[in-house]
Amino acid sequence: MIPLELTKALKDGNRYAVLIHISPDGDAIGSSLALAHTLISLGKKVDLFCQDTLPDSYEFLDGVKLFKRSLQPEDWYDTSVIVDCSDLERLGSLSVIIKSSAKSLNIDHHITNSYFADINYVDINAAATAEIIYEIISELAGTIGLSVAEALYTGILTDTGNFSFSNVTSRTHRITADLITRGVNPEKISILVYKNHSLNKIKLWGRAIDSLETDYAGKFAMITITSDMFENNSAKEFDVEGVVNFALDIKGVELAVLIREMITGGVKVSLRSKNFIDVSRLAAQFGGGGHKKAAGCIMKEGIEQSKAIIKTAVAKIMNNMKT
Ligand code: 5GP
Ligand code: MN
Repeated sequence: MIPLELTKALKDGNRYAVLIHISPDGDAIGSSLALAHTLISLGKKVDLFCQDTLPDSYEFLDGVKLFKRSLQPEDWYDTSVIVDCSDLERLGSLSVIIKSSAKSLNIDHHITNSYFADINYVDINAAATAEIIYEIISELAGTIGLSVAEALYTGILTDTGNFSFSNVTSRTHRITADLITRGVNPEKISILVYKNHSLNKIKLWGRAIDSLETDYAGKFAMITITSDMFENNSAKEFDVEGVVNFALDIKGVELAVLIREMITGGVKVSLRSKNFIDVSRLAAQFGGGGHKKAAGCIMKEGIEQSKAIIKTAVAKIMNNMKT
């Protein structure tokens, strides 16, 4: 059940800021666009924010050009809506919104959500935040146009790994069935998201796969991407989305790690589990978060030291795992 105070806050305000996390993914982008389109159709003034550049693969979504990178001193909002974001750090420099808007709303599905806003609606059973946004929009607006439907479909498609992860439920399929009824073309979206890679991205993926190392009788696999690999292949940071799955998809692998240098300094770690390991707990040890089977964190140490730290934490898990 959607809390009444949340729907009321989405009806009562006039000026809304809709914000998403750093390294934005399809769910964050699709959910925020769908909500923004709906609020605009209800006569609200809406600004969309993301600190980072959006990946090229979501360029086809209606409204992506509206995203702003930073808050200006003259910007003020009576309501800020933060979607698909587990904690304030994940907003990067945009976290100041909490202080500069009268009311903040947190709509999310991460198990590690820190309930940082005035009104928090966290549904950890939703496969994607887009599922929650679909339910909110159905209540708020009643109608869902094609732009909104495509944005929501993209959010669900990408956060479920093409409808393949353990988070997929009958609710997921009921919602996507309705979105298809409203005009979404699954093949078109699938081609735009998954079959539209730049050559540079595929070359980066090749280098990334070359770096694969395994341990614990093949139950653990790790991919390393250094900044030279980005530079040598003229690839962009967001081109790494999905690469961790090459490690996870190997037969017998239970725990996969992608570790990469960030342009801004520090190291980004992506963690994936196939069956038993709760990687959200592993990420939380380093100030990160996520879901049981997909989580991440950012480390300040250099790449080699970060790898050593992660490997020590992984050793504790793997040594405790029954064979
Ligand atoms: P990815 O590895 O694809 O970046 O992220 C996988 C999942 O972990 C996503 O749900 C994402 O929101 C979460 N996640 C990734 N990095 C971080 C992080 O630094 N902090 C938190 N709290 N969650 C993260
Ligand atoms: Mn999500």
